[in-house]
Amino acid sequence: MPRIPTEEIERLKQEMSVQQLAEARGIKLNPHGKDLLGLCPFHEDHEPSLVITPSKNLWNCLGACGSGGTVIDWVMKAEGVSFRHAVEILREGTISNTQPTGKRIKIATVPKLPPPVDFKAEEQELLKQAVEYYHQTLKQSPEALSYLEKRGLKNSEMIDHFKIGCANRTFGFRLPDKNRQAGAAIREKLTKLGILRNTGHEHFNGSVVFPIFDEHGQITEIYGRKIRDDLREGTAYHLYLPGPHKGVFNLEALKASKEIILCEAIIDALTFWCAGFRNVTAAYGVNGFTPDHLAAFKQYGVEKVFIAYDRDTAGNKAADELASQLIGEGFECFRVLFPSEMDANEYALKAKSPEKSLDVAIRNARWIGKGKPNTVQQLKTLEPKAATKKESFQPPAVDNQQNKPAEEPQNPEMLSQPSKEEVNIFPLAAKEENLEKLEPVQAAAAPQRVEILTEIKPEEIIIKLDGRRCEFAGY
Ligand SMILES: [Zn+2]
Repeated sequence: MPRIPTEEIERLKQEMSVQQLAEARGIKLNPHGKDLLGLCPFHEDHEPSLVITPSKNLWNCLGACGSGGTVIDWVMKAEGVSFRHAVEILREGTISNTQPTGKRIKIATVPKLPPPVDFKAEEQELLKQAVEYYHQTLKQSPEALSYLEKRGLKNSEMIDHFKIGCANRTFGFRLPDKNRQAGAAIREKLTKLGILRNTGHEHFNGSVVFPIFDEHGQITEIYGRKIRDDLREGTAYHLYLPGPHKGVFNLEALKASKEIILCEAIIDALTFWCAGFRNVTAAYGVNGFTPDHLAAFKQYGVEKVFIAYDRDTAGNKAADELASQLIGEGFECFRVLFPSEMDANEYALKAKSPEKSLDVAIRNARWIGKGKPNTVQQLKTLEPKAATKKESFQPPAVDNQQNKPAEEPQNPEMLSQPSKEEVNIFPLAAKEENLEKLEPVQAAAAPQRVEILTEIKPEEIIIKLDGRRCEFAGY
């Protein structure tokens, strides 16, 4: 659970006065020196034993219950809620003003905060309301915002555009307990959707959440990334709704561009997005390219796929396998080569200018191949310098050692070479005016010298280069 910042707690302790809370409950207070005296509402009090010290905003019962403390302790006791819940109530300023009963306060089973969802809503509407609640929560969560900032994603346009949110347990505080009829019904619905777990806890608690929408704005999936990195062993840092992954992140990119950057994680994709590359999407993890992705790529007529998976063993392997699949489906594939062991996000974070460095990485992406199912065709060719290097020619699905070219960028700045030529291969890039100045060093999209012949069959790929012939079966 995200910690509440100390400053926030101190602020709440000062802002709401204990005296006002007591008076709101109908407790009559009489001055006694610098203190105020009244009947304690937390035990059967017959002579005033409640002492409030306005100058310090503290209270204390000198009678049977002996309770006391700050304004937060007051709300905990008065409302029968946890510390965290009391803080939320104070933040909201929704204090009940019930008369003192003199009876022991029961643990509250009815929340003191307005519910985050309409209990009568249908499933999709409920999901949208939950996502909207998380979205509003994120905007007021310094911890979640600073997590995004730490990942180089401090961008309010991005937060609004993708309805990014944060789950911090306050959603659950606003639902009635399951021992209430309304509570049981809504909790069951939310559990079925995957917002709550069977334990009653919020599934995405402690995470920044990223909803995935289909073309009609319906939520098909939610991805959650834990904010803290020091959680106990075995904690899952990446969470999704239950069931198979459905839908495609940033689907509108596919509609708008024939050239798509495909990352293995949403945070990487957002890194590109924030740097002005709007034609980007993400798989659900390194092996998370789904039939939905493929179907959408086809449906929207994507032609070129820039695979920007992590530059590590798993990423290289998955990129090879995916390229082989995509080439078989008729797409043209490129591998974006980040420095060894880096992903897009790390690479951008280390760069002086993420926009420039990512741009150079894209322009230096290695051409892998292009194909059409069950056809023999002449393919685009590699530019000569790359083709003379053994490791530069990367047929799909070969061993991973070959995927590490000798000349690879070791840090992002090495890639950033300003230049004069204007190339615009990414119509969606928001900051083209900056990017256009970069050199299309060995531009990946336009290599035209050495001829490669590829024959792609359902069961194998045959590649001919310089009179040599390679076959890849069972790809
Ligand atoms: Zn008392």
